Amino acid sequence: MPLDELVITRAIMESYMDKFLASLDSDVAIVGAGPAGLVCAYYLARGGARVAIYERKLSVGGGIWGGGAMFNQVVIQEEAKGILDDLGINYMPYEREGGYYLVDAVELSCALGLKAVRAGVKIFNLFTVVDVKVSGQEERVSGLVLSWTPVELASLHVDPITVGAKYVVDGTGHDAEVARVIQEKLGKELNTPTGKVVGEKPMWAEFGEKSVPECTGEVYPGLFVIGMAATACYGTHRMGPVFGGMLLSGEKAAKMLLERLKG
Ligand SMILES: Cc1cc2nc3c(=O)[nH]c(=O)nc-3n(C[C@H](O)[C@H](O)[C@H](O)COP(=O)(O)OP(=O)(O)OC[C@H]3O[C@@H](n4cnc5c(N)ncnc54)[C@H](O)[C@@H]3O)c2cc1C
Repeated sequence: MPLDELVITRAIMESYMDKFLASLDSDVAIVGAGPAGLVCAYYLARGGARVAIYERKLSVGGGIWGGGAMFNQVVIQEEAKGILDDLGINYMPYEREGGYYLVDAVELSCALGLKAVRAGVKIFNLFTVVDVKVSGQEERVSGLVLSWTPVELASLHVDPITVGAKYVVDGTGHDAEVARVIQEKLGKELNTPTGKVVGEKPMWAEFGEKSVPECTGEVYPGLFVIGMAATACYGTHRMGPVFGGMLLSGEKAAKMLLERLKG
């Protein structure tokens, strides 16, 4: 059968619109497809939630790809090994020292993306979240404002569009971009020690890793923080290129959100 260019274009446009419109009002909208965001999305979707991720870049995986200093191997500690098992991701124990496991960064990035999509997560790449939608007297977060990344890069004068969600998750990494919107544009206090994004402390792997899941939670009505965004919000220590805390943070947020969605 001859290929028709217009059929190809129509197929792309129609199926993309179906996917986008099906996510116009989701249970959870996650900003950022890093390790924390992808794991959170996967467990949420597996629990029956309707989940969308909006990712600024072309690819998913966030900071996974570069491993440590561009050596694309990832270290995961004992506590997070169960998540790798659950997702069927290959790892090797580090032979010189117990409790450390090595994963190929490419496998981890691809596997987290694949598992999330196969679980039903809708991932929209090339969208930059530039603002949140708020509603009600308490100005609860109830959605996201999206701009195409190329529009942002070219500083074009183009209005963004809006999607709704019962809950929003800030998985934007070090910059905690969504939490900062609450602080800077809404002028509201966050549920952190200072009421603001505290900013991460210097490196201390042991303490930093433990604190990521501990800090994971609702930082403002309707807004959860995960991964390095949680570290930044609560001002705990950075931890260097060890990724277990990111996975555990995503898993914890998914559990908390599934409980909320039930209520
Ligand atoms: C400078 C630097 C320092 C690092 N230091 C540490 C460290 O101390 N400890 C550590 O464990 N790891 C560090 N890392 C590695 C790595 O970033 C993280 O460990 C890990 O990737 C964080 O996972 P995450 O899921 O929280 O966020 P990330 O992997 O950073 O993923 C966040 C994702 O959100 C996307 N995003 C951000 N803003 C928006 C937006 N507005 N709209 C849409 N998408 C958005 C990004 O494109 C990215 O894909 C560092 C990385 C860098 C670049």
